[in-house]
Amino acid sequence: MLQKRIPIRMCTGCRKRKPKSELIRIVKAKSSSNFKFCYTEQTNFPSSDPLIFIDHTKKSAGRGTYICKDYDCLKKARKSKKFEKMYPFKAVPDLYLKLEEEITR
Ligand SMILES: [Zn+2]
Repeated sequence: MLQKRIPIRMCTGCRKRKPKSELIRIVKAKSSSNFKFCYTEQTNFPSSDPLIFIDHTKKSAGRGTYICKDYDCLKKARKSKKFEKMYPFKAVPDLYLKLEEEITR
């Protein structure tokens, strides 16, 4: 029997592996000090601008990080300073805010 391959990704908070479709994807496209936080998915941004954004399409190019749509996972990620290690310092507070919105929506 043919099985559909479901992409599995790990949640940054609880470290559990889940189908990609159940997770929120955060994308980092390029990195530089001249970084900018993007609030929505965008496809037509200038390629010179590094971006961190929540990828609703789950297909945008760049390095993806995943987190469950669960407030506890966000708390865990926050406690272990996961995003602080991955993203430019000034991006992190905005990212937390955006993820909170995303989860409580
Ligand atoms: Zn999780």
